[in-house]
Amino acid sequence: MGLLSVPADPVPAWAKIDLQLHQPYRTWLGFGRLRCDWCGEAWGRHGCSSRESAARVFLYTASPAQRQAALDSDDLTADDLRLRRSVPARHRRRPRPHPRHRSPANPLTALGFTDLVAAL
Ligand SMILES: [Zn+2]
Repeated sequence: MGLLSVPADPVPAWAKIDLQLHQPYRTWLGFGRLRCDWCGEAWGRHGCSSRESAARVFLYTASPAQRQAALDSDDLTADDLRLRRSVPARHRRRPRPHPRHRSPANPLTALGFTDLVAAL
């Protein structure tokens, strides 16, 4: 039963590869701004967008030991530990100014039955 004893790595390979590929470098011979060496994007707090998503997936799938190893090898920074799971959706659907289906309060008034009902 050798297969059962092999620990499965929960971290997807693309996340680990992206963390390795997307590294910062300084433009203008080390005097300019930080850019991603792989995709050329501006380097933010969590790197480029590819690195940020890879770091996010790594954080949510890696074991504590893997996370510590990534921190020790500088694949992950302390800032990455504060990545949020997702940005809360702020675009809620607004109600229509004119509701399409407006039913009358009393359907009998639309039909003119109120006088009839009152007469009964
Ligand atoms: Zn990149």
